[in-house]
Amino acid sequence: MNPSRVSQAAVQTRWWRAGRYVVQDGAIRPKGATTWYEPWATYQDLWAKAERWSIASELVELVRKLEGTHSDENLERGALTPEGEALVLGWCERFGLLGLLPHRALTIIEPPLVVASQSRARENVVGVRVGWRVGGTWLNDVVRYPEYRSRVGRNLPRRGTLVVNAGTLPKPHVVWQDLFEGFAKAVDLHAALRPFFPGLDQADRDKGQYPLPFEQRFVRFYSEPVAAFCTAARQLARLVDESRDVEERKTNRRALVAGVNPDEVTEEAGVHRWRWASPSLLGTLATMVILDNVASCPMGVCAWDKCGRVFARRQPRQKFCCDTHRNTASVSRFRHAEREPTKPSRTSRRKKAKR
Ligand SMILES: [Zn+2]
Repeated sequence: MNPSRVSQAAVQTRWWRAGRYVVQDGAIRPKGATTWYEPWATYQDLWAKAERWSIASELVELVRKLEGTHSDENLERGALTPEGEALVLGWCERFGLLGLLPHRALTIIEPPLVVASQSRARENVVGVRVGWRVGGTWLNDVVRYPEYRSRVGRNLPRRGTLVVNAGTLPKPHVVWQDLFEGFAKAVDLHAALRPFFPGLDQADRDKGQYPLPFEQRFVRFYSEPVAAFCTAARQLARLVDESRDVEERKTNRRALVAGVNPDEVTEEAGVHRWRWASPSLLGTLATMVILDNVASCPMGVCAWDKCGRVFARRQPRQKFCCDTHRNTASVSRFRHAEREPTKPSRTSRRKKAKR
């Protein structure tokens, strides 16, 4: 393997978002120019400022809103109300898509093609485009099959032609990982990839020449089915749901961070900072949840009924996201207690005694 590819691969810590997203035929599709950003830079800046917020908590909040207004069945089918759709598109316009394809696929093997023609030798070279998920990113290459060249060479007209009777060459397929448990199985190339590229040329789709992560073409065309987005987002939200079984959450967490790899960045003046390379935004968000849990206390949901914000706790029993909401909630509890004098709360008793 070419070493420069590996070093390039190690810097896949960025993520992209399109200027706009639309829902079309059940998929969230990008429109407009692409911008890249560094989720870890945002994360670390917020920690430095002691803001108890992260991109992950924004996704958990989105899920809470969707679950509050949709049935399980509709979320599984990706059947959102116009309001729900607007919430999802708004999130994507800020952070991009979750990256479920590069997250779940382990290997992509495309159909064999003529990759070079050598007219003088009257031979063609046959190769297969292959992508592998490696620590924190994807490596793509064209694997050439020189032994195949001599056998089929003359029958193949020119570059880009599909090799039909591929005989002993690897069959096109995707090794696809389960999002919940992490086990992997081989699935049909088209069945796995087609839903993620509704905007791709029909000819490319028919030939099985899908963009590999994170080629330019991939970034341009990559879309995500609404149903898949909702399922994965809910999966992430379960990591911070304290009512769920601890063992189950542990298994889910492992499946979500399976492709994530540590990396470091050296800034000016020789300052080293850590960051994590991830094949998907979903993996990055799951890693943020783990770090938040380890660095402080598990994430909580603000107990003031008008807020419901998801936040990183400073203390294990912290119930409110900020002092303002703690105070507001206690004032409204007090007023509520005054209206129902039969059940005075401890606060109202104390306040009455002061008067
Ligand atoms: Zn709050």
